[in-house]
Amino acid sequence: MRFIDLKTQYAHIAQDLRARIDAVLDHGQFILGPEVRELEERLAEFVGVRHCIGVASGTDALLIAMLALEIGRGDEVITPAFSFIATAETIALLGARPVFVDIDPVAYTLDPNKLETAITSRTRAIIPVSLYGQCAEMDTINAIAARHGIAVIEDAAQSFGALYRGRRSCALSAIGCTSFFPSKPLGAYGDGGACFTNDDRLAQAIREIRDHGQDRRYHHRRLGLNGRLDTLQAAVLLAKLAVFPEEIAARARIGARYTELFQAHGVVGSDVGGAPLLTPHVHPHNQSVYAQYTIQVEERDEVAARLAQQGIPTAVHYPLPLPEQPVFSGLAQGDHPVSTAVAQRVLSLPMHPYLDEATQERIVIAVMQAARG
Ligand SMILES: *Cc1c(COP(=O)(O)O)cnc(C)c1O
Repeated sequence: MRFIDLKTQYAHIAQDLRARIDAVLDHGQFILGPEVRELEERLAEFVGVRHCIGVASGTDALLIAMLALEIGRGDEVITPAFSFIATAETIALLGARPVFVDIDPVAYTLDPNKLETAITSRTRAIIPVSLYGQCAEMDTINAIAARHGIAVIEDAAQSFGALYRGRRSCALSAIGCTSFFPSKPLGAYGDGGACFTNDDRLAQAIREIRDHGQDRRYHHRRLGLNGRLDTLQAAVLLAKLAVFPEEIAARARIGARYTELFQAHGVVGSDVGGAPLLTPHVHPHNQSVYAQYTIQVEERDEVAARLAQQGIPTAVHYPLPLPEQPVFSGLAQGDHPVSTAVAQRVLSLPMHPYLDEATQERIVIAVMQAARG
């Protein structure tokens, strides 16, 4: 059993994928070739924004978005205490200070009720994370940010394809940033990412920054980096984009089926035979792409070990809240009790669009047994 099954996906798209890759090998424009522009146009249309700019990774997407907003030394950027390291790492790399806000205990995304007290005169941006495939509470966050004149960047590395109040993730704030890391909902066969925006000026800045800050060849009007999306990865993504709408539907179906199976096997609310187990909650206004199907369970590490013995792979996203990472030990931070609590209990189960019902049933039964001890 695979945690994420890329091989079955490959079998579905092999022909188109090979043809796409061959086309690149034939024309030889490996850097910013025609596939990059084609992908950008298709993704902008898919998301429903004016601009998509392909970049080298999700991490670069965040870094470049903040560079475009001219965030740097002395600035503060608010972000959730519970996420992948890249969200906060890029803030700190720019010399700005990550300010951590706790998450909502049910949706795992930034708790908007705790946002306003974290805003100071130095706050330049808020980076909510659409964790596990469900969008953060973007409208509420945007409204608070607007009152304070602060930009909002959605870290949509795990939510590409998700819907929030009928709108696509990455179309929900000043800039949306996503990742095409192979295991993300839309994954390449290597690193990749993209920035999305409706703002022409920001789009131009992002385009220049990803290519050494040049507006034309060897004319550099701002500081940039080598943050371009590879043509070969764009070709891979074009082939995968063709089946992505079906995969989004499959993800929604499979995520819901997990929850139904858990309920059918006795999980009522958050309690199973004395061993609390919590299934994910997706708000009615959201459609999650389930980048992860993450439950909460007592004695998580023991449960994971028992599942591994039965050949069921799991993962922990994430074992340590960001403010507790050694790299951020120098930052004076308040507490973030929800993040601390869930970091000890979260467990992600195998999740991908090709997961069949029998396998899911086997996983659910094994999880229930493992959770009962
Ligand atoms: C994966 C991920 C990133 C970074 O993406 P890369 O493409 O691996 O650089 C950033 N934020 C979150 C929440 C992620 O899950």
